[in-house]
Amino acid sequence: MEAIGIDIGGTKIAAGRVDPSGGVQDLISRPTPRDQPEAIISTVAELVLELDQHEVIETVGVAVAAFLDRDRDRVYLSPNIAWSDFPLRERLETALSRPVALENDANAAGWAEYRHGAARGAQSMVMLTIGTGVGGAIIDRGSLLIGGYGVGAELGHIVVEPSGRACGCGAKGCLEQYASGTALVRDAGTLLSRDVSGAELMALLKEGNSLAHQALEGVGDYLGRGIASLVAVLDPEVIVIGGGVAAAKELLLAPIRASFDRNYGPFGKRPSPRITGAALGNTAGVVGAAEIARSGAIH
Ligand SMILES: [Zn+2]
Repeated sequence: MEAIGIDIGGTKIAAGRVDPSGGVQDLISRPTPRDQPEAIISTVAELVLELDQHEVIETVGVAVAAFLDRDRDRVYLSPNIAWSDFPLRERLETALSRPVALENDANAAGWAEYRHGAARGAQSMVMLTIGTGVGGAIIDRGSLLIGGYGVGAELGHIVVEPSGRACGCGAKGCLEQYASGTALVRDAGTLLSRDVSGAELMALLKEGNSLAHQALEGVGDYLGRGIASLVAVLDPEVIVIGGGVAAAKELLLAPIRASFDRNYGPFGKRPSPRITGAALGNTAGVVGAAEIARSGAIH
């Protein structure tokens, strides 16, 4: 059975038909009208109409970059979109005339990697998404952890530097301030004594620029520290590293693994998790949203 997956991000809304093996057909997207909450609903409706061309697909999942309530009905708030205590699921169901499953975008991407990507076959996994910020997902024995109030697994906001850099969340020293793409570009700029873009930084890494590598190793070091704490609590089989910065592949994974080995103490000989790159790229949100609508991820 095909399902429609939609990923509402801060800059674009992507949608596609997803087959049962996780393959995406007809991937389409539009810019996110982020200052107009109502226009987002109508943009999603237009995308679904386009995907419905041959037959009406009844199963629809929507991933969104937002804090959702426990029941996956309302958006508490979104860092990028002008929603506040917004009844998103009801509004989408009215606009699309069918049931809609709603999930946080990092959770949806994690669910996709668990079902069809880098963690396929594992019972338990943690995913860290390294993009503009740091997102996360925790899955154990077939269930996504969403917490008591719906906003669990905000892994970018574990503290790795007490009294460290101020974070947008209001705390200090959060992982996101040291290990996001934003932090990487800023730290590389400091080391290189000039501003660099993300694309320029990737080019410098490929050329073997030592200062660019130093910045990336710094990010890997903080991620390894954060992962050591997460492993002590959650004992996952697999840690999946996704998001734009994960395009650096082994250049990022090697320092993460080295830092994890330095920072993870407990009990010597216990089994260690596999730390690996994401497999699904930027369609993970679309795939995960469709899979959650199809099979359910929250018990
Ligand atoms: Zn924070």
